[in-house]
Amino acid sequence: MIELKNREQIQLMRRAGAVVGETLEMLRGMVRAGVTTGELDQAAEDYITKCGAKPAFKGYDGFPATLCTSINEEVVHGLPGARKLREGDIISIDCGAYLNGYCGDAAVTLPVGDIEPERQQLIEVCSQALALAIAQAETTKRLFDISSAIQVYVEKNGMSVVREYVGHGIGRQMHEDPKVPNFGRPGRGPRLTRGMVLAIEPMVNLGGYQVEKLSDHWTVVTVDRRPSAHFEHTVAITDNGPEILTKV
Ligand code: MG
Ligand code: MG
Repeated sequence: MIELKNREQIQLMRRAGAVVGETLEMLRGMVRAGVTTGELDQAAEDYITKCGAKPAFKGYDGFPATLCTSINEEVVHGLPGARKLREGDIISIDCGAYLNGYCGDAAVTLPVGDIEPERQQLIEVCSQALALAIAQAETTKRLFDISSAIQVYVEKNGMSVVREYVGHGIGRQMHEDPKVPNFGRPGRGPRLTRGMVLAIEPMVNLGGYQVEKLSDHWTVVTVDRRPSAHFEHTVAITDNGPEILTKV
């Protein structure tokens, strides 16, 4: 895990995060019925490259694309390709980029046209869980205060949090220590200190929390095939509270 030591380092993390935030904002404008996930992926790669940055996922463990695009019951790590978005789908888009040796990582879940109310609620609960988690990213707190904020809020809303995939420290590498689970007991775990940077990423299922991997070796889906949402930000812990680095 990185410990940001000076203004220059935090500026570099901000710039890497901004590329990711801007990419997701650009993609938000493209999401509609008929667009393929491959088209979203190409647009993301073009934008990141134009910024002088490098897609963080491409080549990671052999991952073939710039984005993870996960539709409906797909939780994370969906592969972009020829699949067309359809009215009523929800799509999670996860994006990472390196700029000048520093990494940003963020995800959003977006509706495709009109969606069922329960899917809308799923998106709202997951997004709000991330906001509540980020509010815990303070120097007075411990790591699992973040985890607990997510779990308590999600379960209060009758949904479940994925156990097998978690958030992470981030800095010069995309995945650094510590792991940031989306479940846990408050008041536990390491103390949060100034300069820590975490990728906080609740994955919320409308049904049960169990997930499994498809035979493509990447796509993670819910076992009950009910929909799932995913939001993520890269967040720095500062003396002035949490700073979201991947905001537009
Ligand atoms: Mg991510
Ligand atoms: Mg991540």
